Amino acid sequence: MVMRRIYLDHTATTPLDPRVMEAMRPCFSEAFGNASSVHAYGREARVLLERARGIIAEAVGAEPAEIFFTSGGTEADNLAITGVMSAAGERGGIVTSSAEHHAVLEPCRHLAEKGKDVSFLPVDGYGAVDLDALRRQTGEGTALVSIMHANNETGTLSAIQSIAGIAHQAGALFHTDAVQSAGKIPLDVRGLGVDLMTLSAHKMYGPKGIGALFVRRGVPLDPMLRGGGQERGRRPGTENVPLAVGFAEAFRLALQEREEESVRLRWLRDGLERRLCELFPGIIVNGDPGARLPHILNVSFRASEYPLEGDMLVMNMDLEGIALTSGSACTSGSLDPSHVILAMGRDEQTAKATLRFSFGKGNTMDDVEHVAEKLNVVIRRMLKKSAR
Ligand code: PLP
Repeated sequence: MVMRRIYLDHTATTPLDPRVMEAMRPCFSEAFGNASSVHAYGREARVLLERARGIIAEAVGAEPAEIFFTSGGTEADNLAITGVMSAAGERGGIVTSSAEHHAVLEPCRHLAEKGKDVSFLPVDGYGAVDLDALRRQTGEGTALVSIMHANNETGTLSAIQSIAGIAHQAGALFHTDAVQSAGKIPLDVRGLGVDLMTLSAHKMYGPKGIGALFVRRGVPLDPMLRGGGQERGRRPGTENVPLAVGFAEAFRLALQEREEESVRLRWLRDGLERRLCELFPGIIVNGDPGARLPHILNVSFRASEYPLEGDMLVMNMDLEGIALTSGSACTSGSLDPSHVILAMGRDEQTAKATLRFSFGKGNTMDDVEHVAEKLNVVIRRMLKKSAR
């Protein structure tokens, strides 16, 4: 019998939507030109690239000239942080949070090692940034504040408008990583008051290897790469037209289907949350129940009641055909507990016994029932073994 397989790791990546594949297909064959060439092949590719830029700009309320394609969310985060700090010259530090994605934390740590003043703000039990600490740390000397829109592990949403207001009052620029929220909840760069915003295609059924950085007109930003003048000199390198076209189509479809799909995803997520609370009394649901992305469920098993290792749980569930994760995908493979769950105040052992379920288009309520049932069997078996 073929094993039933269920994918519940859509925050790590999503499958490519076949409609996105279809939109990209001509760019791999007849429309193969270099978008910077002046001949007809190049002009044809340029039209496709600029159309894609326009769709992405419109999706976030920006002007097309404010969208810069990158190789993904990691590059866009790095470009925002190192680019702003390089343009700021000697003056200025960075304020970020301890629950950011590694694509923000690592460039910030690197700049701190080079002597920049970098503050990693604490987060509360829901994973939200402490606004008072932000006010205290953000001052005249701050060049950049970088706080993510939605956390990739818990789904907790940040109070972006308030955070942007605090940054601007201090004369700092504000960057947000919206990789997880884009296509899931409405995004409007003007309404949110952001100066820079990171996007990535592969979290919204688009291709891997492409993202974008929104840079508000007039924001000083040095490039990380030097070469040709592509992307108005801010991200040189031959433009990846097929992936840009795929990104735009994925974003367009996500917006078109978002309202209905987010109601369905929330229904599935809440269904699993209810089942797990029934099966495992005392389980901790991580994230802000009032401000959370609709498709993420993150739970911890208190070490005192459930002595479990998240990585072993993930492996055992994988053997049952169910794909989920115990931390962010980028740190999986390491046995370190999630820095996000630790920052929220959980002890190390409880942080290690954490699971993240993230739902997507292919999931059904039948999957929820199946996953809860399998998890119950796996956990009872693991607890019995550890009691021996
Ligand atoms: N930022 C967040 C919040 C993410 O979840 C991820 C990917 O997991 C990234 C950045 C990195 O994006 P990419 O995989 O496109 O480099």
